[in-house]
Amino acid sequence: MFGAVEAGGTKFVCAVGTEEGELVDVRELPTRAPGETLPLVADYFRAYDLQALGVGSFGPVDLAKGSPTFGMLTSTPKLEWRGTNICRTLAQELGVPTFVLTDVGAAALGEVMRGGHGHLESCLYITVGTGIGAALFFHGEIFSGVAHPEMGHIAVRRAPNDTFQGACPSHTDCLEGLASGTAIRERWGVPGDQLPVDHEAWPIEAHYLADGVVNFIYTLYPERMILGGGIMRQPRLLGLVRENVIQRLNGYHVPQPITAIDEYLVLPRLGPLSGVYGALDWAIRQYRRRLLVPGK
Ligand code: ZN
Repeated sequence: MFGAVEAGGTKFVCAVGTEEGELVDVRELPTRAPGETLPLVADYFRAYDLQALGVGSFGPVDLAKGSPTFGMLTSTPKLEWRGTNICRTLAQELGVPTFVLTDVGAAALGEVMRGGHGHLESCLYITVGTGIGAALFFHGEIFSGVAHPEMGHIAVRRAPNDTFQGACPSHTDCLEGLASGTAIRERWGVPGDQLPVDHEAWPIEAHYLADGVVNFIYTLYPERMILGGGIMRQPRLLGLVRENVIQRLNGYHVPQPITAIDEYLVLPRLGPLSGVYGALDWAIRQYRRRLLVPGK
């Protein structure tokens, strides 16, 4: 058996699965203080004989290779979690090899491996929730440079007449600051799920998300792009983003499969389980990799 955790800001989704990547049990635990939540997570897994555990974590998390604080949450806005090392804590509690990646990396991996999207060599998964993040799946790996990418903080062009100051404390005109769930709530005074389908918020939201998508297309040309996260549950939004993307590309180097935008830019198919499926896959593949390198 292998264990999987999707560690989020409001809940921890814990799951146990087989070496073939099938989930056999899932449990949700509320995210409270680390000293309260992590013992409950460890207790859940103690009932199983695990070979390894995978953790898809909210962030920012230190994933720099060789870093003495590898796996530690750094400047997360959840202050009581700053300095917590979820991966190391669970590894010590359970005595099993534990492997960490970002929450959006886990969602990307879950969708690519288990989401029924067909064989993909490259895929960009973008999550639009409280914040905005993205992860690139590329030839069996989740891409990371000296740190995990922060694609939510790319600069975007202002929508016409948009005077909102932005919700990112570091940048005035970044994608997350102008289009995250936090930005929507601060701009309109209510969360996105309380805005009606014909509200003026949605064309503005589509403007920013399309700017991000077009930048990622021209930078990476992934085979598929998946737009997930709570904000994408607004049923009108995906169609608006697709229209904006096609307009913005303006016919410049739009090869297959991007021309079929309805099949190219899609919603996730595993719903709330993308992240745990990905964390499970991560545990299995990292465990196997370790077996191939004796002494590591
Ligand atoms: Zn920013």
